[in-house]
Amino acid sequence: MALEFLNPRMATLRVDAITLDADGVLHRGRTVLPGALDLLHGLNERAIPWQIVTNNSRQTAERAAEHYRSIGLPVRGDQVVTAADATAAYIVGVHAGARRPRVYPLGDADQRACLIAGGCQVTDDEDRAEYVAVGINRHLTYQRLFHACNAIRRGARFVVANLDATVPTETGAIPGAGALAAAIKVATGKDWYAIGKPAPEMMLQALRRMARAPAAALHVGDRLDSDVPAALRAGMATALVTTGEHGREEGLAASGDARPDIIAADLPTVNAWLFRP
Ligand SMILES: [Mg+2]
Repeated sequence: MALEFLNPRMATLRVDAITLDADGVLHRGRTVLPGALDLLHGLNERAIPWQIVTNNSRQTAERAAEHYRSIGLPVRGDQVVTAADATAAYIVGVHAGARRPRVYPLGDADQRACLIAGGCQVTDDEDRAEYVAVGINRHLTYQRLFHACNAIRRGARFVVANLDATVPTETGAIPGAGALAAAIKVATGKDWYAIGKPAPEMMLQALRRMARAPAAALHVGDRLDSDVPAALRAGMATALVTTGEHGREEGLAASGDARPDIIAADLPTVNAWLFRP
């Protein structure tokens, strides 16, 4: 069966906003998946707002959009939420006061640029940091890890762009932001606030940006351990497409906050339901 409703409410739901995972949904590597262009065009034609939400901990939305355009997906920067941008937006949002929040970045130059662009002050002084922002950094030193732990022990808030254990690269899987956050958590005994999926923060930011409530919003993703729980915790419905990480059998077997509302074989199947008369 190409389209299965695990939640019967979905058969009649009229979706008024969509968030999309990219890898495994719209594209795989540099290949645009069947139905992706029809989906984006169909949403645009019907004026249904959409946002791509990606766990990328170092790219700005504009850079991510450039990448999507380079493989043939028509995406603007204001249609992307990255974990890096969402980290800055979260910190600025929770920081009460007129002054810009002072953030000690554990991530690389790109994360630093995202924080500054998002309205944070970046500091390398552990004593002045009010927040520590964790993202991947291939040049991370023990010294920086040590300073970040000191800042958190002193009371700085511990924010992590995503909890990804690893990040795939050309040369193999490198430790992800989640692995770095775990080291800090063990060293300090303090818990983090996570931005990326499976936390709901990015979905909530995307909904605010689209000015839509979660009730009639849908997230389309390929992972039961990140896409589905993130959307569910934000109050949104979820469709699992089985063109990426997880298959139909795994979707049917999922329970709790990993259980999708819809399982679809691919995007053309989603489109046929979404754009029904
Ligand atoms: Mg994916």
